[in-house]
Amino acid sequence: VRVEELVNESYKRIGEVDEKVGAFLTLDKEKAHAYAKELDEAIGTKDEFGLLFGMPIGVKDNIVTKGLRTTCGSKMLDNFNPIYDATVVERLRAAESVTIGKINMDEFAMGSSNENSALKVTRNPWDLDRVPGGSSGGSAAAVAAGEVPFALGSDTGGSIRQPAAFCGVVGLKPTYGRVSRYGLVAFASSLDQIGPITRNVEDNAFLLQAISGVDKMDATSANVEVPDFLSSLTGDVKGLKIAVPKEYLAEGVNEEVRQSVLDALKVLEAQGATWEEVSLPHSKYALATYYLLSSSEASANLARFDGVRYGHRTDNAENLIEMYKQTRSEGFGDEVKRRIMLGTFALSSGYYDAYYKKAQQVRTLIKKDFEDVFEKYDVIVGPTTPTPAFKIGENVNDPLTMYANDILTIPVNLAGVPGISVPCGFSNGLPLGLQIIGKHFDESTVYRVAHAFE
Ligand code: GLN
Repeated sequence: VRVEELVNESYKRIGEVDEKVGAFLTLDKEKAHAYAKELDEAIGTKDEFGLLFGMPIGVKDNIVTKGLRTTCGSKMLDNFNPIYDATVVERLRAAESVTIGKINMDEFAMGSSNENSALKVTRNPWDLDRVPGGSSGGSAAAVAAGEVPFALGSDTGGSIRQPAAFCGVVGLKPTYGRVSRYGLVAFASSLDQIGPITRNVEDNAFLLQAISGVDKMDATSANVEVPDFLSSLTGDVKGLKIAVPKEYLAEGVNEEVRQSVLDALKVLEAQGATWEEVSLPHSKYALATYYLLSSSEASANLARFDGVRYGHRTDNAENLIEMYKQTRSEGFGDEVKRRIMLGTFALSSGYYDAYYKKAQQVRTLIKKDFEDVFEKYDVIVGPTTPTPAFKIGENVNDPLTMYANDILTIPVNLAGVPGISVPCGFSNGLPLGLQIIGKHFDESTVYRVAHAFE
């Protein structure tokens, strides 16, 4: 197969289905075809090929791409053309994969349904009346609909794993620090990670391999060895110890979701793994902690969108302060404004100790919950989401119900550990996801279990 054929196939499929699915915001056809040609011509002339040679990939629109529109799903950046590539984009290039285009998302990655995109509606390919999840809903939908075999997402509180679960694909949030955040438009810097969304576990490991590793442009990227993730796909889970937090199967988790997890555990047990119930006692504070910390960080990170440096600037302002205010009023959507206000409040001098500082302390306790469990167990297993994909419009006016979607994924970001979602069954024809959580920098074991289960 020639690369040109793969790339054509991808654009053909997008032409056929994306009008309905709505995953892509920007296509990069000309450059993709030119690069495919270059790769095809190189085939006969060299004997070493990139890890993702010729593979079509879609990139979430909060990852900057030189000269290619990068919107973050926001009116604020509708016309923003970055002047550099994110480190992950450079690494994709080094792996010789072909960027097909940029993918829709909730505005600035805030949301769980893609309904917060200011630019486009994205639908779940399994049922077009339902949401694909979010905020990397476009990435998961594009892979599920067969538009691209590989996609990059970002995950701050569940934004890779939740849409992967809703769309029946595989999505991994790496350990904090495994993948460079240079060129990822920051939402909550202490939680954000870029990660792979693919059709199966093997592809996922390939993509993580290509983008992982320390980066001098991101001081929070970790200088730890990157193992050969592919070699962990042995199918062997004999003797492996699995912990199942009782909080993850508690009230509020849909009965079929609970059953699908118990069935998955049986499959793993039959292969020689054992499981026991454990407790992550501070889980009940995770949602509140997350929304305080992530909104605080967001309020600082989004201060840069002031009408001067990037993107949108209002036409109707008489002076500088008016210009800032009007630009931000016009450029940001309701959810982004809600987070900025919440974050600014939590960081204000009178409330800092009561909210931000307290939340940081609780975060430490949540992290310790995980460390305690990992002293005795290899992985933690549970559902990715409490329910399957909901209907478009069903939760838009109810931010708290929307926030509760990430109740099982958020603790993983607060602890900084890796987590994957793999398909584990259906409820009324809608896919469900199994979440497998590992120790810091132990994506290998996460992949091993996911692969054995898949
Ligand atoms: N849904 C969560 C939020 O809105 C998580 C988003 C994410 O992981 N980027 O903050």
